[in-house]
Amino acid sequence: MDMKPIKVSSKPEKCPKCGGKVLDVLYGMPMGEAVEAYERGELILGGCCIRVDEEGNSLMPDWQCKKCNAQFIEE
Ligand SMILES: [Zn+2]
Repeated sequence: MDMKPIKVSSKPEKCPKCGGKVLDVLYGMPMGEAVEAYERGELILGGCCIRVDEEGNSLMPDWQCKKCNAQFIEE
């Protein structure tokens, strides 16, 4: 399975693969409002690890599909 984030120019309205809801991915420690948004299922927590591929490209998506987990990254 290819888990490389899909490059997009801006946040997709909905997932181009499954039509599911696309959520913001938050990195680092969530606090306050972010925790509440996460509990409501409106946010995805990306953790705090920096991930890059073998060419040094970022593998940290800006957005992720709630349904199929497709990941999107801003070009
Ligand atoms: Zn999807």
